[in-house]
Amino acid sequence: MATVRFENLRKEFDTGKIVAVDDFSLDIKDGEFITVVGPSGCGKSTTLRMLAGLEKPTDGHIYIGDEDVTDLSARKRDVAMVFQNYALYPHKTVFGNMEFGLRMSTDLGKAARREKVEWAAEMMGIEMLLEQKPDELSGGQKQRVALGRAIVREPDVFLFDEPLSNLDAKLRTTMRTEIQRLQDELDITAVYVTHDQEEAMTMGDRMVILKDGELQQVGAPKHVYQHPVNKFVGGFVGSPSMNFVDVGINERSGTAELRSESESFVYETTAFDVADGERYTAGIRPEDIEIVESGGIEATVDVVEPVGSDNYLYLDISPDFIARVDSAIEPTVGDRVSIDFADEDLHLFATDSGTSIV
Ligand code: ATP
Repeated sequence: MATVRFENLRKEFDTGKIVAVDDFSLDIKDGEFITVVGPSGCGKSTTLRMLAGLEKPTDGHIYIGDEDVTDLSARKRDVAMVFQNYALYPHKTVFGNMEFGLRMSTDLGKAARREKVEWAAEMMGIEMLLEQKPDELSGGQKQRVALGRAIVREPDVFLFDEPLSNLDAKLRTTMRTEIQRLQDELDITAVYVTHDQEEAMTMGDRMVILKDGELQQVGAPKHVYQHPVNKFVGGFVGSPSMNFVDVGINERSGTAELRSESESFVYETTAFDVADGERYTAGIRPEDIEIVESGGIEATVDVVEPVGSDNYLYLDISPDFIARVDSAIEPTVGDRVSIDFADEDLHLFATDSGTSIV
């Protein structure tokens, strides 16, 4: 069973001056594809490296299946890691690179090793490259070899550390699909680190969002997108980012009415306990906004940015407030527009703590 369990994992550097990972706990199911995402320095790589056995936790435990692997060396763990820079041996052929791990970790004979390498090469569509050296390959081909090398060992867990970052946008999309196909066919348990929230959303069965070494939220991408637990997650997941507007609360019979300073922004929320002196911020996703004839929130168009099928309209409601609308809607800079959105698309956060309220 290739389940993975992180239990209250902590990693300090510089004798405690840097806390890279703080009290991280997570259960990963057998065959689950977990993406880990967050801004630079949030502890993604450190978490992955602790699972690989390349970094020793300061505190906490890691289990693969039922085995506590916390103190096990990288070699003794049945994991394979795919890196951003491919990490291929330059003097070995593709065959040699793919076979090397098998020679180290199994006692398979030569013929059996060849059979496995050929199986993995076919899986990755690189059979014709087996006799080439890495410097004769393109970036995309190198990454296929690195994936093939991971597959060939049939490890319990696959670890990916930003494997597609060095590839151009088109190739990245192709390789994403490729990795997802592998996951379907081989039913692998995988932990995939990326700084790209779109990649994390499209690839993960569940996504983990980290900030400053702390787990913010874990869940199915769609759920996280629809129900961010705090303002950070709301702003990090989705592109362009969620718009935020500071609002006042006008309490009435158990529900609350949001008002911006201009009084034009009035929405009734579901009931919640308004805390004394608490300030609130509303969050609205650019794609949830529509332009209406009248009766919505009035705003002036500052910038119109065409992005193919859609236009981004920058509106003067709050700094960088964007409405993502169909490209057929083409107002001129300076035009007044009226915007609206469904009540259920309004998110509300406590301004200071950032915690989601409704
Ligand atoms: P990035 O996306 O930039 O790769 P990350 O989310 O993977 O970032 P980590 O590399 O895990 O973040 O780093 C988390 C924190 O730990 C950072 O503050 C980093 O500077 C620090 N850190 C990581 N490795 C070491 C180390 N060997 N010595 C000291 N500090 C380290």
